[in-house]
Amino acid sequence: MTHHYTILHGGTVLTLDGALPTDAASRAAASGVPDAAGRRATALCYAHDRILAVGDDAEILALAGPDSVVVDLRGRAVLPGFVEPHAHPYWEGLVAGMRLLAGRERRAAIRAVPGAAEHLEPDAWLVARYDPTGWDRPDDPTRDDLDRAVPDRPVLLAHVSGHAVTANSLALALAGLDRASSDIRGRMAIERDEAGEPTGILRGPDAWDRIAASMPALNPAEGRAALARAAARLAADGVTSVADADVGSIAGVAAELAAWGEAIASGAMPLAVALMPGLVRIAPAPGDAVPSPADIAAALPEAARNRIRLSHVKLKADGALTTHTAWLGAPYDDAPHAGMPVHDPDVLAERIRRAVKAGWGIATHAIGDAAVGAVLDAYAAAPAAAPAPPRPHRLEHAMLLDEDLVARLAASGVTAVVQPEFLAWAGPTYRARLGEERAARLLPFAALLAAGIPMPFSSDRPVVPGAPLDGVRAALRHDPALSAAEALHAWTAAGAATLGDNEAGRLEVGRRSDLVILSRDPTAVPTAAWARGDDGVAVVATIVGGRLVAGQLEGLT
Ligand SMILES: [Zn+2]
Repeated sequence: MTHHYTILHGGTVLTLDGALPTDAASRAAASGVPDAAGRRATALCYAHDRILAVGDDAEILALAGPDSVVVDLRGRAVLPGFVEPHAHPYWEGLVAGMRLLAGRERRAAIRAVPGAAEHLEPDAWLVARYDPTGWDRPDDPTRDDLDRAVPDRPVLLAHVSGHAVTANSLALALAGLDRASSDIRGRMAIERDEAGEPTGILRGPDAWDRIAASMPALNPAEGRAALARAAARLAADGVTSVADADVGSIAGVAAELAAWGEAIASGAMPLAVALMPGLVRIAPAPGDAVPSPADIAAALPEAARNRIRLSHVKLKADGALTTHTAWLGAPYDDAPHAGMPVHDPDVLAERIRRAVKAGWGIATHAIGDAAVGAVLDAYAAAPAAAPAPPRPHRLEHAMLLDEDLVARLAASGVTAVVQPEFLAWAGPTYRARLGEERAARLLPFAALLAAGIPMPFSSDRPVVPGAPLDGVRAALRHDPALSAAEALHAWTAAGAATLGDNEAGRLEVGRRSDLVILSRDPTAVPTAAWARGDDGVAVVATIVGGRLVAGQLEGLT
């Protein structure tokens, strides 16, 4: 029976099924040892959603029958589809239609605000994002700036990191925020001028919620449409599995779960999906009972339940370097403080303990060195992780490390989910915040791999545009650099292992036919070409469960 086979031949098939990325060792060893890219083949056969065979052209072409689809790759490369273990697809879909105020000039960015209101109803909120990391004067916009630009409707600008917002006077008034309002320690700091008036800038994990709570709620169709847009963007970048790393952060847990359920059941979201509910959203007070993964699954429509992984909850230990809210062991170079934790250490430990007992693995956002240390302490104090399936805890970002923290990470068994594209995006800002010595210690990919720490790449999109190939380029430009094979392993096999998905991430017989086809073999590109960005590697087509979801390849339907 050879019906419905699809055969891809005449290219390079990188299986990514090596045990570990051991490039340095394999380069030194005798030839024939596969590097992090795994075995190399020239052809692959799949039927429906399963890989049936990987081998050389003669072997695989012999499987073809009269109803098989046979596609000549003409030298292109086939890899496992990219796995994105930390993104915000719901937010990405919503911001896809929003203005991003970036560029080089702060004044020009603020002057562009009114243009973003052109197609809005008269009283509608203007919501946009801003990215000051490239501005000549990188100060956040203030209420005065926004009042001058748009005085007649509420304006809310989200810092691209998600860790700060700026609102105009109308938005502050609608949110009931004035000089009498108080900060929430670790969660929301209201910036004030000398007279004690709010400047419009709010920092911390609750900043967005505090203002956005006054906006009209999104309707279910908007949520579903956002996820469909995100799916199309992810698929175009070669991504076949995605995790939402803070479900509930935009529209609340119930509304976002409903949108995910509908998008999956209707086919609008064809990718493999993992959802990480925000722990403070499913258990608002530290002493609240934490719903189990089964409790959360019960809220999903039947048709979507089996297609969603629920293994980790998301928690934040600190903020971002760009907004001076990451928690450091020593003060910032360009601010008279060291940031602060979101939760006091005993509260963090108690939240983690309760979530582990409810059956969750924990994924904690920690960027500063003090935050990373506190999270490792809390993980060490927590009861043993849930029995089955195993859910190793995760550290999200883990940016500012030193030798001691790398050693502690290695001993802990914790996975470091890191974002190489952050370095390409905000490198100069990081150096301003931390000084050269500390900035040079950011994201030591090679040291993490050498210590045997599971290290999947991700992007945190839409904080950065997020194409995995751009993440590869950033990692290959970093010092010390990884090999392309190691970077690709971090975008495939390592991510699938982190999500507990043993049917993705590698091209092995029996795994899902989730594939990305690239214009050329990425491991044959010289490192210098990657670094210059003229590597010529591009996504040609993306296949999920045997279905073409983005791009095109002649002969493939
Ligand atoms: Zn994130």
